[in-house]
Amino acid sequence: MSSQNKTGTVYLIGAGPGDLGLITVRARELIETADVLLYDYLANPKLLEWTREGAETIYVGKSNGQHSIPQDEIEEILVNRAQKGLNVVRLKGGDPFVFGRGGEEIEQLEIDKIPFEIVPGITAALATAAYAGIPLSHRDYSSAITFLTGHENPEKHTFSIDFKDYGQNKGTLCIYMGIGQLPRIAGELQAGGMSGSTPVAIVQWATLNRQRSLFSTIDTVAADLATSGITAPAMVIIGEVVANRTKTEWFEGRPLMGKRIVVTRARDQAGQLTALLESNGAEVIELPFIEVKPDVNQQQLAEIFAGIAIYEWIIFTSVNGVKSFFDMFYKAFDDIRCLGPMRIAAVGSATAREIAKHNLKVDLVPEKANGDALATAFIKNEGIESIQMLVVTGNQNREVLVKRLETEGGAIVDTLPLYKTSKTDLSNHAAAERFRTEGADAVLFTSSSTVKSFVDQAAALTLEPDATTPAFGSIGPLTTKTLKELGLPVGFESKHASLDHFVNATTEHLSAYE
Ligand code: SAH
Repeated sequence: MSSQNKTGTVYLIGAGPGDLGLITVRARELIETADVLLYDYLANPKLLEWTREGAETIYVGKSNGQHSIPQDEIEEILVNRAQKGLNVVRLKGGDPFVFGRGGEEIEQLEIDKIPFEIVPGITAALATAAYAGIPLSHRDYSSAITFLTGHENPEKHTFSIDFKDYGQNKGTLCIYMGIGQLPRIAGELQAGGMSGSTPVAIVQWATLNRQRSLFSTIDTVAADLATSGITAPAMVIIGEVVANRTKTEWFEGRPLMGKRIVVTRARDQAGQLTALLESNGAEVIELPFIEVKPDVNQQQLAEIFAGIAIYEWIIFTSVNGVKSFFDMFYKAFDDIRCLGPMRIAAVGSATAREIAKHNLKVDLVPEKANGDALATAFIKNEGIESIQMLVVTGNQNREVLVKRLETEGGAIVDTLPLYKTSKTDLSNHAAAERFRTEGADAVLFTSSSTVKSFVDQAAALTLEPDATTPAFGSIGPLTTKTLKELGLPVGFESKHASLDHFVNATTEHLSAYE
């Protein structure tokens, strides 16, 4: 927290057009250290996750069709917090000085002698052009770029520009907040001399995976827009450059674009799958059907650590197990050699990669990522008769492995459960609400426990009549078996139990149903 005696600084920051990757490094630094953060509806809500613990976040945009907080109130909050010695970040979509009322806010700060800094952002016109493949300038077609607004501010539905004046414009017109007035704007441009065949692009939610675009011409755009379902926020680009856009749709052409997919993994495990799906264009709804919590018997842990060197094999059955084990191991020992000369096995490649982070070589990974396959690999290929083994695991899915190692292999097995997987309650979860109303194209089940939890919570997840019915995807045979046992239709199954393969299977399945 800043000193109470000194006035804080207000940082007026451009949050860019939506995609989190398009924010500046400076903006991120300031968001991470701010005491107070003000944001509105165009700023990606995920930005809030960057704020430090205890930071105050204030929503100043519209909600439920209500008007946003009046400008003078926003300015009052900025001044008041800064005078208390707090550093305040005022986030604005795009760039703060492009149709963002940044100038007015700075004027007030100057009157009150509040120090400020301005961080530019990627404005919607530039972002839209890039993500729709439209070069804003072109040596043959356009040597001028004009930024215009359809109305002065979203609340004031008045016309501040006479578009007839731009009818003769030979360059590119980029119109912000133009969608509501587009029929009138197109009419005025034509009245001012613009050809009815001039190409027009409309791009909604540019840079996000829900981006949609419409290509038309001045004389047909009003009718095309009316039937397209496109609403604000959208950018309108007019000019010959629109017809000269890239032939490849590098962004909207990605395979999962326009698909809504539910990821069912526990919250802290969902990231990698979510990122993979999003980079392929999907909109992801994270519905954590299970949660994973540490669950350690300290006495048992102490006993096992005391005799850790007696084990000839240590077996990890999950990424979680590896993480928890090493967290605790490093607390108890300050030398990796305390692990002893044991050999290491992992149930699958993701678990093996987690072990490799500790510069430890994994001696055995079965071809198929499940406990049964691991047991078979041991029994077939390794002499484990009377060998001491340690299985690091959670509270589930360990019985088959341990039993087979003991009875078929003759090994002496100790288990070290370190975490517990349990069902979550999604009845009041915001993402569940979204699932109920909109549905999804697919629900991806990454384990039997996610399927069981889904079935238990069916009542809270009943789709509304207009919602899209999802296909159920399974990461592998065990999850498929659980789906079938519980009477759920299996839409598709991943060929191998890895996230990459699962995303490929999802893409194949969904594109087959275009
Ligand atoms: N300061 C912002 C503009 C604010 S005005 C900037 O520099 O981008 C709000 C208008 O910006 C919207 O009505 C829309 O026309 C445009 N806009 C903002 N984000 C957009 C996006 N992701 N896709 C398309 N248009 C967007």
